[in-house]
Amino acid sequence: MDCPVCGGDCVRPAHEVLAALPTRFFPCPSCRMQVLDKRAPLPVLTYPEPCSCGKRFIDGVFAHLYVIMREEGDLTRDDPLIAVGSPLVHPGFAMDRPPFLPEKSLVLLSGKVTEKTARRIAAEVPEVQGVVQTSPGIPGLASHEPGAVPRSHTLLAGCDVRADLVPVGEQTLVVYKQQSVIHVEFPRAGYPKIRSVAARVGKPLAPLFVDACSGPGTLGLAAASLGVPHVILNDAWYAAAFWSAVNIGVNRRYFAVDDVKICAQYAKMAACPVLRVPEKVAETRGRQVLEVYQGDFQNLVSVIPRDTGPVTALDIFDKQDQGVVSALLRDWQSRVGGSVFVP
Ligand SMILES: [Zn+2]
Ligand SMILES: [Zn+2]
Repeated sequence: MDCPVCGGDCVRPAHEVLAALPTRFFPCPSCRMQVLDKRAPLPVLTYPEPCSCGKRFIDGVFAHLYVIMREEGDLTRDDPLIAVGSPLVHPGFAMDRPPFLPEKSLVLLSGKVTEKTARRIAAEVPEVQGVVQTSPGIPGLASHEPGAVPRSHTLLAGCDVRADLVPVGEQTLVVYKQQSVIHVEFPRAGYPKIRSVAARVGKPLAPLFVDACSGPGTLGLAAASLGVPHVILNDAWYAAAFWSAVNIGVNRRYFAVDDVKICAQYAKMAACPVLRVPEKVAETRGRQVLEVYQGDFQNLVSVIPRDTGPVTALDIFDKQDQGVVSALLRDWQSRVGGSVFVP
């Protein structure tokens, strides 16, 4: 599919992303690795050029970003290298050593970068795919309460669509997202949420799994890849629902589906970014049925088949308040049945 943000070929099928992975962040014999002190300002305003193989050690890329941001006045002489921002590589996964970055493999999230600088970075730093200016708070809806105001960061230059890799048993899901409108979720060691889904939908296989607050779709996709015959994904936030739909197509080789139909347009969804009453965003045809809705999960009962005893994951953001969470779980249990858990 064409990338819904830039129209390019940012979104690739999972097997292509995984096939390129073994060498993607590895140096060639000529690549040089100079480790810099991230907590100190760059001692001299210079940076190494990329190697003839096209890759450059991540610290060298950061030195390049630092020099541009100093020249443009986004950073002062006292700012340490780390003040450049957060590097999100594509695809993201737990690495055991810092990467050598190929062309267009990095989305920069920065609270200091300004628009003119971002355009310069996108034009002059080949490893950068997109530059996002962060604002306080996480993008999307931070609360399940009706009326919660969503936030976004701002894409200033390039494209901020990238993927994270999520292992599920022997398989690896490729989960794309647009980084300015979907929060960064650094996976915890051992992927406990995936493990809890696997434990809940496994033997005997649940007939239906509901990923009620799906984000970009990770848990629903995991359940589908484990063979659950019917999976419903839902999120009130347009970007989460849309990327859940895209990610079904990206990972379709793991599912028994013939066809993925996305029945919504990203730009149109952005105009109504939060929906209360669920609207269908995508569905599959084939032996396995995957459906995606955009809506408030508390209204999702209207689209769940009756008496199916689904397993539901309720991955709400504001799960610190135990009283609220217990009430939501009890309410879901009484209206939908089956079993429900907070992953
Ligand atoms: Zn793109
Ligand atoms: Zn090299």
